[in-house]
Amino acid sequence: MAATVLDGNRIASEIRAEVAAEVKALASSGMRPGLAVVLVGNNPASEIYVRGKVKSSEEVGIYSEKHTPSSDVTTAELLALVKDLNGRDEIDGILVQLPLPSQVDSKKVLMTVDPAKDVDGFHPMNVGFLSTQRPGLVPCTPGGVMEMLRRSNIQIAGQDAVVVGRSDIVGKPMAMLLMNANATVTVCHSKTRDLPGVCRRADILVAAIGRAGMVTRDFVKPGATVIDVGMNKITDRAEFERYFRGNEKREQAFAKNGSTLIGDVHPEVAEVAGALTPVPGGVGPLTIAMLMANTVRAAKLRRATADPVG
Ligand code: NAP
Repeated sequence: MAATVLDGNRIASEIRAEVAAEVKALASSGMRPGLAVVLVGNNPASEIYVRGKVKSSEEVGIYSEKHTPSSDVTTAELLALVKDLNGRDEIDGILVQLPLPSQVDSKKVLMTVDPAKDVDGFHPMNVGFLSTQRPGLVPCTPGGVMEMLRRSNIQIAGQDAVVVGRSDIVGKPMAMLLMNANATVTVCHSKTRDLPGVCRRADILVAAIGRAGMVTRDFVKPGATVIDVGMNKITDRAEFERYFRGNEKREQAFAKNGSTLIGDVHPEVAEVAGALTPVPGGVGPLTIAMLMANTVRAAKLRRATADPVG
């Protein structure tokens, strides 16, 4: 039987509607959450992401502003910008779009963001809050995956969860969130022995690898929930055929755009999994929706107390 499709667009629009209602309620008490996005240079992918974030803010009623230093910006200049945003009370969230140019000390910049305004949840203080289960700001993509699981009534407590990938922005926080929700969690990476065998133990399998279609049916226990975080662009016709031969909708899109998006999970997994997130339209839309939710959360946490988050 084909897997149930976990519709990220539907869940993201549910979250956005809830955020919009919260923003409206806050407005009646004179508070408008504000998000500042810092986009350095002209990276086309970053420009698309930032456009989506600003548009989404407008839709839910969050104040947003964009800062666009040129690609030759120095670390000192970026630090000055971040410090200025830290000091402005009407700004609740600061998002520095990555990657930053090579002359910039990215870690220093991210460390300078006030943890109470760190809507990406990357600051070590928020990482610490997550690992000690204190209130803080959680990275948007893994946070979105948890919303997807909960809102799809997928059992987490007591389940075996396997996360493939251990990056700071997806794999590690994902594993922590699943563990905090009482799953028994295994984290895999490029040195893991018998990856398919380890993955086959999972009731919930999260792929955050960055390799097109790597998770094939032999990685998946029949009936498991498979979450595909990967976003890989295919432009090669032969590769396209390998994954999507006979898929008319994809054929049309590929013919029109010369490319298509594929996750880390092979389409054949739909025949084995119990539930599966599509790419596109799965985890991706949730990431931006959670950024909106985090901005409102940051506003409430910070403005309600004199202390930073926590
Ligand atoms: P990353 O920093 O490159 O991390 C990839 C992880 O996968 C690493 O831990 C790496 O292991 C592991 N890995 C690589 N090859 C492997 C292999 N052959 N076997 C087992 N593990 C392997 O990537 P990321 O930033 O976490 O992103 C992962 C994917 O998610 C990418 O496709 C990215 O585009 C996508 N993404 C999507 C969203 C969204 O909104 N949907 C958001 C963020 C990221 P090592 O640590 O051993 O190197």
